Amino acid sequence: MRRLLAVVSHPDDETFGCGGALALNAKQGGLSRVLCLTSDPPERGDELRAACKALRIGKPVIMGLEKISADDAVIRRVSDHIASFRPDVVITHLPTDYHRDHRATYEVVKEAVEWAAHTTAYEEPWLVGRLLLMEVNTLISSPHVLLDISDVWALKEAALESHPTQLAKFKDGYYQRFTKAKAELRGVQGGCSYAEAFIEEPLQRNGPFYETKASKSL
Ligand SMILES: [Zn+2]
Repeated sequence: MRRLLAVVSHPDDETFGCGGALALNAKQGGLSRVLCLTSDPPERGDELRAACKALRIGKPVIMGLEKISADDAVIRRVSDHIASFRPDVVITHLPTDYHRDHRATYEVVKEAVEWAAHTTAYEEPWLVGRLLLMEVNTLISSPHVLLDISDVWALKEAALESHPTQLAKFKDGYYQRFTKAKAELRGVQGGCSYAEAFIEEPLQRNGPFYETKASKSL
């Protein structure tokens, strides 16, 4: 069973950026979880919970930070979560994202993934298999991974409707149109109806702190 953890800045990022991946992994028998660093105002937490329900994944974990910064305490809380949930794949934001919170979340996750693997930090450390970076409103110019989400597109659309406060911010159905057009564009590139795009972030495998370093095969 594959365990997928999405670490996001705000309620709605999980749906816009990787709602398809979360729903697809769950549909395939995996365990998908959202760790959301903020929820401002707190009512947006209800929207996030409704979105996770629509994606047919478990309840999200909301950290409730007032501000996202890559300080030691925040990194430790996220690495604690990674070390206990033990995800095969972690998804988070792009370091080039237009939103400062998203960039800060990338910094936090990059450090937390590293620390979760350290034998000096945890009795049972966890080395994440893959770190993928998603597109919310800032598009990836040349994706490394295109995930076919056609089978769960309806769930992603339903999850989008779970965020009425965000959809109401812009007129003419901006977010609905943008999300659909983006998924169709990635679908064209991926040879399917709807897809999500990601950057594959290389992870360290050679640190002195890791339990396992050398691969037994390529
Ligand atoms: Zn966001």
